[in-house]
Amino acid sequence: MNIPQSSFPRVIVIGGGFGGIALAKKLCKKDVQVVLLDKHNYHTFQPLLYQVSTGGLEPDSIAYPIRKVLQGYPNFYFRLAEVLRINPDIRTIQTNIGEINYDYLVVATGSETNFFGNTSIEENSMAMKSIPQSLNLRSLILENFEQALLTDDLHERDSLMNFVIVGGGPTGVELAGALAEIKKGILPKDYPDLDTRRAQINLVQGGDRILPAMSEVASRKAERFLEKLGVNVWKNIRVEAYDGKFVKTNTDTSFEAATLVWAAGVKAICIEGLDAKEFLCRGNRLRVNEFHQVEGFAEIFAVGDVAQMESEEFPNGHPMMAQPAIQQGQNLGENLVRIIENKPLKPFIYRDKGSMATIGRNKAVVDLKKFKFQGVFAWYVWMFIHLYFLIGFRNRVVVFINWVYNYIKFDREARLIIRPFKKQHQVSRKQPVE
Ligand SMILES: Cc1cc2nc3c(=O)[nH]c(=O)nc-3n(C[C@H](O)[C@H](O)[C@H](O)COP(=O)(O)OP(=O)(O)OC[C@H]3O[C@@H](n4cnc5c(N)ncnc54)[C@H](O)[C@@H]3O)c2cc1C
Repeated sequence: MNIPQSSFPRVIVIGGGFGGIALAKKLCKKDVQVVLLDKHNYHTFQPLLYQVSTGGLEPDSIAYPIRKVLQGYPNFYFRLAEVLRINPDIRTIQTNIGEINYDYLVVATGSETNFFGNTSIEENSMAMKSIPQSLNLRSLILENFEQALLTDDLHERDSLMNFVIVGGGPTGVELAGALAEIKKGILPKDYPDLDTRRAQINLVQGGDRILPAMSEVASRKAERFLEKLGVNVWKNIRVEAYDGKFVKTNTDTSFEAATLVWAAGVKAICIEGLDAKEFLCRGNRLRVNEFHQVEGFAEIFAVGDVAQMESEEFPNGHPMMAQPAIQQGQNLGENLVRIIENKPLKPFIYRDKGSMATIGRNKAVVDLKKFKFQGVFAWYVWMFIHLYFLIGFRNRVVVFINWVYNYIKFDREARLIIRPFKKQHQVSRKQPVE
């Protein structure tokens, strides 16, 4: 990998997401050599992926070059590499560009879509966990409307304009809201010769309320907002199979839709060598102690979505969200310095800053520890927080300008089929990119 040996201990961080970057920032001025590895050369701001999928933002504005975050620090090295295996016995890791040894290893690989072993859904649905996947979804949505224009078969046309989003968490809710706004404000202008009123947006939730991780009042309000926007909210229904056209559920309800977005679960990305059952909890997360150490290893740590730190308050670990990842990365950064300086370690305490979701223009729900509010003010808070946490000044400016423009013009100009997403044939498998 062409990384020199140094007199400082070497900390390898796998993953330049929220956790990995927060950790590297804490370490880069200290007497350690930091080697950050990621299979992408950019950090992805996942909370805004749905805006890329729906043409509200260009992908570049929610991605940031990892090298730039930490440029100028002589002890910091980034390599574009996919980590394939960890060898804890000899303290090395294997990647697609070679092998490297470590003194301390931090796993911050995040999570991926969980299809719970359902192959028909995995093969035929769309996931939204990365920028390439979001661009695929954007292309597919637009291609479906182009195709709907060409067919004389009313049944097929309806199917092309039907969307089923599975999962009533923030991702599903935000995507449904954005699609409903496109239906209302953009489709009639773009496709005047198509009866776009027939387009259906269905949000399917397995439980009895959407946004189950938020307060009941936030769930109720979000559902009302969605219904006002014309989204069909289906609760207590589980999708069981999808062949690219027909959506089968565990009830009598079924859908015919050319697009099914699966936002119903994630699982941690675990790497060979640390994937034995004894290290893993539910959802493939690595069990860690309050100092982020992976059980059984003094020099291997995990932060973010991939780490499960069980406590009385969080028996299933912290929520798989950006804030826990950032706070864990920061705490571990400080602890690694303490380890090297032979000082006592600080246990991690999560400071819950609340959660929020937006449901289209002027509408959001916000749950803070002491206050819960919904509506226009919540929407402003949502926008401010997302701009604040977006990495890069340019990205903040670009996103802000886009949002103002979209708000004033009722528009989403990034509705471009840059990289067509082709289905092999209408009713069956797609060719997945990524
Ligand atoms: C659509 C969507 C919307 C979301 N909305 C919100 C929200 O509104 N608020 C919120 O708090 N959270 C939200 N989240 C969750 C949040 O993004 C995650 O909890 C957060 O990104 C976790 O941070 P992390 O550092 O653990 O992992 P990530 O940010 O996912 O970073 C992991 C990194 O590891 C790299 N990687 C993985 N495997 C390897 C490997 N083998 N080799 C090399 N590199 C590897 C990846 O390329 C990636 O860069 C959302 C997530 C999604 C998908």
